[in-house]
Amino acid sequence: MSLESIDFPLLLDHLQTGVVIHASDSRVLYANPKALEILRLREEQVLNVDAYDPSWQLLDQDSLPLSAESLPVNRVIASKQSVSNLEIGIADQSTDSISWMLCNAHPQFDQNNEIAYIVVDFIDITKQKEEIPYKDIVERAGDAIIVTDANYQREQKPKIVYTNESFTKLSEYTSEEIKGQNPSILQGKDTALETKKVIADALSNNRAITCEILNYTKSNKPYWVELSIFPLFNRLGKLKYFTSIARDISTRVATREELKQLAQCDPLTDLLNRRGFDARVQALNNENQESGQVVAILDIDHFKEINDQFGHATGDEVLKAFSGSIKHAFRGNDIVARWGGEEFIILFSNIDINLALDTMERFRKLIASRKYAISSHHDISFTISVGMAKRKPSLSLYEAITEADNALYRAKQSGRNCVSVANAEEVRHVFSADNPPQH
Ligand code: GH3
Ligand code: MG
Ligand code: MG
Repeated sequence: MSLESIDFPLLLDHLQTGVVIHASDSRVLYANPKALEILRLREEQVLNVDAYDPSWQLLDQDSLPLSAESLPVNRVIASKQSVSNLEIGIADQSTDSISWMLCNAHPQFDQNNEIAYIVVDFIDITKQKEEIPYKDIVERAGDAIIVTDANYQREQKPKIVYTNESFTKLSEYTSEEIKGQNPSILQGKDTALETKKVIADALSNNRAITCEILNYTKSNKPYWVELSIFPLFNRLGKLKYFTSIARDISTRVATREELKQLAQCDPLTDLLNRRGFDARVQALNNENQESGQVVAILDIDHFKEINDQFGHATGDEVLKAFSGSIKHAFRGNDIVARWGGEEFIILFSNIDINLALDTMERFRKLIASRKYAISSHHDISFTISVGMAKRKPSLSLYEAITEADNALYRAKQSGRNCVSVANAEEVRHVFSADNPPQH
């Protein structure tokens, strides 16, 4: 079949693209049916009319008025060059609506290289123009958004195919440099293993998940995000992408940590309170570090008399100063807390009971020999009584604490200023009261 046998006018008549052929002076010579349909005009309204009918309101891609010179056909006449992909709007004042076209225009030259006519073609893009610009919304959203492909099933890790502006602001990675990477590049040394596992599990089951995770910027600065990850399927139900939306919650986490810290801290002595002690014990249990635990409860002897003699405020100062001594003497793995009033608790881990007893004895003697200079008062001295217990493997720590409490009671009964140990079979000596109580 040769080209001559093709009926081009018939083709143009059935083309789903609008085609208008202009003379070199821009008069319309021909408009195919699709062109008339898009322009909503009859043939006689177009033929031999100037390309620019003043009754049309033409708009550029930003909906601003378009001058006659900017029309594709006039641009081709002026420049003798093709123009392509121009978005042009036609405002219809009668219906208050705008039709949008995507236009191309090409000059055809005669033997003298003068423009013979201009072919303008266009398609109706009104629908696309009116669609909500979801991509722009995602691009400018305040949350950091990542889209990865969904290669999980093929034993490959999902690769990042898109990130928005907020992601770059938060992570310091540009879209270009992170494209093709797996999002785990954002995790770091303190990112919880458990969270990573939960995410991997959800992804491999195509499940949506929301969690809090510690991420790291390109320059390795940690930040907390609340992360929602969900799978995206195509119309055939095939998994295509995973999307993750991350909200920066670093400030929220810092405040929460601060509040937790405050809730677990005794304001007078700055030691842990009971809640703080419990939390630290729980952390030890979680790390399976419960072996060789010895608990000691310390109680200031005749503290009421200090209050009575010097006043409650001075009593407070004494508690503060005594806490300073405890902090100085016990550190590292020992958990020290104010158990209440003038009672304190120390939990030793991985320690032999005799070593713990020696340590407490040394501390008891140190306190008995010390004079605390409290504000305007004379030096104040006092003694402490201590009850200790070793945690038995079969019993909970709180049972050991009860035993230590009973031992403390016995220490008080035996004259104070001494250390008493519960279940003392393995202990070399039980009581020591070589320093009399003194004030
Ligand atoms: P013992 O040798 O038997 O322990 O005698 P104690 O006087 O130390 O014991 P007691 O339990 O009779 O009295 C404890 C006192 O500690 C009573 C209470 O007012 C005081 N106390 C508890 N908490 C505080 C505090 O935060 N500040 C002050 N200043 N005193 C406190
Ligand atoms: Mg006391
Ligand atoms: Mg007491």
